[in-house]
Amino acid sequence: MTFSSIYPYTQETIAEYPAHTPAEIEKKLALADKAYRQWQQVPLPKRAELMRKLAAVLKQDAVEHATIITREMGKTLKEATAEVQKCATTAEHYADHIESMLQPKLIASDAQKSYVSYEPKGVILAIMPWNFPYWQVFRFAIPNILAGNTGVLKHASNVSGCALAIEKVFLKAGFPEGIFQSLLVSSKSMEPVIADNRIQGVTLTGSTPAGMSVAQLAGRYIKKTVLELGGSDPFIVLKDADIEQAAKVAVQARMQNAGQSCIAAKRWIVDKSVAAEFTAKVQDLIHHLQQGDPMLESTNTGPMARPDLAEELLKQMNDSLKLGARILAGGVLEGCNFTPALLADVKPGMKAFDEETFGPLAAVITAENEQEAIRLANMTEFGLGASLWTKDLEKAAALARQIESGNVFVNAMVRSDARLPFGGIKQSGYGRELSMEGVHEFLNLKTVYVQ
Ligand code: NAP
Repeated sequence: MTFSSIYPYTQETIAEYPAHTPAEIEKKLALADKAYRQWQQVPLPKRAELMRKLAAVLKQDAVEHATIITREMGKTLKEATAEVQKCATTAEHYADHIESMLQPKLIASDAQKSYVSYEPKGVILAIMPWNFPYWQVFRFAIPNILAGNTGVLKHASNVSGCALAIEKVFLKAGFPEGIFQSLLVSSKSMEPVIADNRIQGVTLTGSTPAGMSVAQLAGRYIKKTVLELGGSDPFIVLKDADIEQAAKVAVQARMQNAGQSCIAAKRWIVDKSVAAEFTAKVQDLIHHLQQGDPMLESTNTGPMARPDLAEELLKQMNDSLKLGARILAGGVLEGCNFTPALLADVKPGMKAFDEETFGPLAAVITAENEQEAIRLANMTEFGLGASLWTKDLEKAAALARQIESGNVFVNAMVRSDARLPFGGIKQSGYGRELSMEGVHEFLNLKTVYVQ
């Protein structure tokens, strides 16, 4: 079996990668486990020093890595470069803060001393998607490796070049062999890897069906999981919002990465009194987006990653149009190139409302009032992020509590920030990445009691 990397903009095959054989995978798991036994003994300042070198390698080679990303999944070179830079600054952040995040927690009891010690567990398997092919991987790898675990990655089949390049980044930074390795393996062949005794946990970022399948397998073998799954985030604009700013951010939050982000603002829920003004502004902004060659500085929206994904988006759009939605911009598909689209009059029952739309398709939904806006926001099986726009910050705090999601951003777009926990509820998954909560997910929270 081989994995093909195809440049989405032209559909040209750029590389073929043979899958690793079971014997090769066995060798990699043995190495990951051996590396863990030594790595957990390495003092924290030394691990942090290597992580700072990794940040330097990423910064120095940013354009080279960005080019690999753009060629494999189509985002613009500008976006890909920013992604690599974000990985570098995150590595620096955790190198600076990991020590405080791993401090034992003293707890008073009837013992002389009792505390929780945060200790690594071993090899963690990461199953990752193609949409942020560096960020998703480093978001898992940086905190876990600093905390003393080692990692093996099963990346999405269309970004094998990214997977292998990331493995090389760790070696170039001076990490010992086996601290981070990529397994080129198909999703159908994951059971023996998940079942393997050396694997101590599984983190998956991807679609909800993939999460269900991996969580079932992990459950069968008693492996802890973190699931970062799909989303259909609401972007709620109340009547007292700064409409100009909300419109600008809505377009960015929906259209960046060609709309292929779990936390993209997929449903714009707008108070009816400002809906016309908001719609006119976003329509104008969308008309001015340049869709096309991702290598060009002037392009804002690259192609989608695969033709099957673009066709799926087209179906969701056409289905919504049949049920009464109106198209105000874009929606023309050629190969993977989908012109940024705007739908108005979207309602529950339409695919643009009910399903995750993973591409450059914005949907305006009108709400009668604030409470209806919140009700519509929660009318989804997902619960990843939400963006809420109002000038009344007290009201925002109260409404934020009513929104069923793992993140609420007020007057800002939802993003994953190295300093803040990130994750979802409902069908968007469970567990957290980043921050103290994320760092502790795959650690042994060991209770020590001294009488
Ligand atoms: P996907 O098809 O679910 O794939 C994600 C990863 O899971 C890939 O490595 C894939 O490998 C693997 N996989 C799929 N089915 C599997 C199975 N049954 N067993 C083991 N591995 C399996 O998702 P995608 O199309 O790459 O990414 C888009 C989805 O990811 C969207 O739903 C998006 O919202 C979600 N996402 C979530 C977050 C978050 O933080 N919550 C972030 C980014 C993306 P193959 O490629 O080999 O199938």
